Amino acid sequence: MKTALSFEWIERHYNSIKSSAILMIILSIPAVYGLVYLTGGANAYSHSMYAPILFAGFVFGIKGGVIVGVIAGVTLGPFMPIDTVTMEPQQAVNWIYRSGFFVIIGFLSGAASDSTRRYMKHVKWLTQHDAVSGLSNRSALIDSLKTLKHGRHTKGAGTLAVISIENVLELETAFGPDVTGEAVMQLATGIGGLLGDKAEVYRISTYHIAVLFFVKEQGIESLHTLLEEEFRRPVSFKGIPLHADIRVGYADVSKPRQEPGQYLREAETALRAASERTHPWVVFGPELDSTSARENLELLGELMEAVNRKQLALHYQPKVSLSSGAVLGVEALMRWTHPKLGNVPPGKFIPRAEQSTLIDMLTEWAIDTALAQLVEWKKSGIVLSVAVNISTRNLLQPDFAVKVLKLLDRHKVKGASLELEVTEWALMKDLRYASANMAQLTNAGIFFSIDDFGTGYASLQYLKDFPASSIKIDQVFIRRICERKRPELIVASSVDLAHGLEMEAVAEGVEDIASYKLLCGLGCDIAQGYFISRPAPAPEFAEWYKKSGGMFKA
Ligand code: C2E
Ligand code: CA
Ligand code: CA
Repeated sequence: MKTALSFEWIERHYNSIKSSAILMIILSIPAVYGLVYLTGGANAYSHSMYAPILFAGFVFGIKGGVIVGVIAGVTLGPFMPIDTVTMEPQQAVNWIYRSGFFVIIGFLSGAASDSTRRYMKHVKWLTQHDAVSGLSNRSALIDSLKTLKHGRHTKGAGTLAVISIENVLELETAFGPDVTGEAVMQLATGIGGLLGDKAEVYRISTYHIAVLFFVKEQGIESLHTLLEEEFRRPVSFKGIPLHADIRVGYADVSKPRQEPGQYLREAETALRAASERTHPWVVFGPELDSTSARENLELLGELMEAVNRKQLALHYQPKVSLSSGAVLGVEALMRWTHPKLGNVPPGKFIPRAEQSTLIDMLTEWAIDTALAQLVEWKKSGIVLSVAVNISTRNLLQPDFAVKVLKLLDRHKVKGASLELEVTEWALMKDLRYASANMAQLTNAGIFFSIDDFGTGYASLQYLKDFPASSIKIDQVFIRRICERKRPELIVASSVDLAHGLEMEAVAEGVEDIASYKLLCGLGCDIAQGYFISRPAPAPEFAEWYKKSGGMFKA
């Protein structure tokens, strides 16, 4: 900020300005005397005293202005004759009047300077502090980190922590926006109280605190242990103790870095990792380095080309009826053969593609390719339906249904031969478009299934709200179904639930005969998994299908 800069300039040169003010004041009195004696008269030159008085007021404030005003009044008063030849003294009223004026001018210039200085100080304070909490802000932290870089920090900082209150939105929704400020203040005060001058606390954004620790010898782990109690302490808001979910990212600041912002970026990267994981705190390490951001971008750039370069393919995994063994359909799973990286699993590139509009292109490509495959298989007597995985984001595109219907039309495939598997139902925030798309698609006979049922984003609520025709019970329950009682009970209940809602229950990740048999016994409708077949390229799948005659025998 320009004001702060000019203030800084004045601050930096304050001692020189002060010295020149004193010098000017000292020199100006004999100078005025000299002029009076040289020219033989007093009145004309006494006005030159205004300059040092104004200057003194500017530099030393009210006190300085008034003192120099008085000195000037006295020295240019009774001791100075009106005529230096006759040495006739001035009239008292003359110099008293002039002295009064000097004092008033000194006072006014001092007052103006004092208030300007106060204002500038406030402006500077604002650039370095959070106006609401009074804590030092991000820019102050960067300044502190700069001094670390230059090795000027006397205290020798060891660690930087960026602390976030993760459940701030929930707290604000429940208790209003004031709760955030209160929580931040209590946390900052707690840490400050605990560590005293061994730490500096900053508020770097609405719900992020940064702490610069000056405890080098203590490892980050023991530092965190020390703070943990503070983190666990409830936030008291209007007398009610509230739980704050604290996450911390740590960075080592004892090693020199290229630029001060890097320490902060490292701690913030670690914080992001802590937010994504179940572990509440993470120390920055090279594995978290921002190269992953670069890698992401590179990979996305290459993914854009992958379709044109025919590096993408769909592999097909059969879905089998548990009651009859009939192969009912296939799930299409995307594979990417990267020229350098080899086989990139979908778990690596789909979530990244979902962060960009690339996912729309990929889904369109997948549906197009899967439908073309159905047509080709049909020609050779293999009549199946295909399930394609789609992203929630696809359903939020206003024209998604239209595009899918166009593809069905182009391949002359009936809607009933296509199934769309959706995982993250909970992310369907804008229900307007999602519902419109789903209505259009289900009207065309397309089926929906709730993928990964029982985990994270797919919950009971979506069974109630969305027109799905099957639920796919997540692999984690199926894989342990024979080992423990609980997964079996969960699967059994999920099957009942599906049937109660007139849906089909699909078990995915069936890896052995025991699980297959158990699922049969539980009344599960469809099975899918390595035990039946691994996902395979289209020709391989066709071979498998033909060999089995479309019937799987366990
Ligand atoms: P998903 O939809 O749950 O797919 C099932 C995953 O489990 C597939 O992994 C499949 O290869 C694997 N699998 C199948 N049977 C077994 C088994 O018996 N044991 C074990 N351990 N695994 C089994 P894959 O192909 O790596 O796909 C991972 C995820 O990537 C999929 O999970 C799906 O969410 C996503 N995905 C794959 N293809 C696409 C696509 O074309 N579009 C979108 N949006 N997502 C896709
Ligand atoms: Ca799936
Ligand atoms: Ca799944």
